[in-house]
Amino acid sequence: MSGADRKERQGEQHRRIRRVKGTRDLLPPETAVWAAVEATARTVFGRYGYGEVRTPMLEETELFVRGVGEGTDIVGKEMYTFQDKGGRSLTLRPESTAAVARAYLENSLQQLPSPVKLYYVGPQFRYERPQRGRYRQFSQIGAELLGDAGPVSDAELILMLLEFLEALAFQGLTVLLNTVGGSESRAAYREELLRFLEPHRARLTEESRRRLASNPLRILDTKNPQERELLDGAPRLTDSLSAEDREHFRAVRSILDRFGVEYRVDDRLVRGLDYYTRTVFEITASGLGAQDAIVGGGRYDGLISALGGPDTPGIGFAIGEDRLIDVLPEEFRQRVPTGVTALVAAVGEVAPDEALALAGELRAAGVSALAELARRSVANSLKRGDKLGARAVLLLGADELERGEVTVKDLASGEQVRLGRADAVARLTAETEVER
Ligand code: AMP
Repeated sequence: MSGADRKERQGEQHRRIRRVKGTRDLLPPETAVWAAVEATARTVFGRYGYGEVRTPMLEETELFVRGVGEGTDIVGKEMYTFQDKGGRSLTLRPESTAAVARAYLENSLQQLPSPVKLYYVGPQFRYERPQRGRYRQFSQIGAELLGDAGPVSDAELILMLLEFLEALAFQGLTVLLNTVGGSESRAAYREELLRFLEPHRARLTEESRRRLASNPLRILDTKNPQERELLDGAPRLTDSLSAEDREHFRAVRSILDRFGVEYRVDDRLVRGLDYYTRTVFEITASGLGAQDAIVGGGRYDGLISALGGPDTPGIGFAIGEDRLIDVLPEEFRQRVPTGVTALVAAVGEVAPDEALALAGELRAAGVSALAELARRSVANSLKRGDKLGARAVLLLGADELERGEVTVKDLASGEQVRLGRADAVARLTAETEVER
């Protein structure tokens, strides 16, 4: 190895390793917000009888090819697919519905009382161009209701979703609703759309020309103005719906009306995945662009059979957790406790482990407390308490220690009082409870 090579290699060894493009580190205090959002999902979904499912992040590639669809962007260009050492083609899951459907079949969940209600929280992987709000590893919170085809299921799922978003203090959400029909209506419409678009092939973008062959319905949600104009004259999916599809959609809307849900029927909403049937929906929050829904969902009555299982209807949604948190109302954020409540400092000659003992008493009472581990001046501890966002700094001098007391400095009001130890603990416990 030449001197220059060796130098380069040494340089390489000391290169700072950075996170992979399109991924991010979530850190405190922001992770407390994520945890609170997830806890809210668990509480609300749990009330509707949903149980958590945790599927592997790795699946056989074929699962997504069949379960998401070959014509989709996800399968066509966004999957993290690789061969493992055993020569199997594996994929980091790009979405979870197909994985949940696989787990449902593999664990014979159809034997449980129907419908089976499952939710999940976890990372998904898509090789997309990273941009604000789009990552290569992102997180989704989703729910799937399997084994019931009726419109009440569609409505209940949407009501649960709205209840969750309202628990996060969202207001003024818009539910966009559409039906893409059952598989027969969809196939009939596909033919009609192709008949309409073929003569205009030259006016389509390259992307749309590709979709003509793979997934023509997706052309409907193009953002290209020239294509939009062309599509204004296209046949409507609504006109191809069977009587049963129409009735299903009418029933879903009428239940949503009964519960006062505000929705808008948008007949251009088709959603990206191949397996959707009948009801599809999205929810957008103001502040995000029109294409930036925080939730997408729909019915997928053909998915389980496409995976080799018995005919089993299903409906579900996936919330983009990254985006959800991006637009999370301040009101909810304020409610999330972050940081510590109390900083305990030993003053003067008092040993720091006395601070540790008092911090222990506070923790035992449910208060988050930090002890100063090294000797510091009182002024310094007060400054640190402020930076840590503590409500109070507790000072233990020799005199306090001897009398079983402590000086409590409230950092918000600046008020300082001397209390018995038990009273000080009780006071901070009460404040913690108010925060909760
Ligand atoms: P989809 O699974 O494509 O229906 O997406 C459901 C939701 O997941 C979207 O509405 C987004 O909020 C979110 N999402 C999808 N892809 C990404 C990504 N690359 N980065 C962040 N969020 C995403």
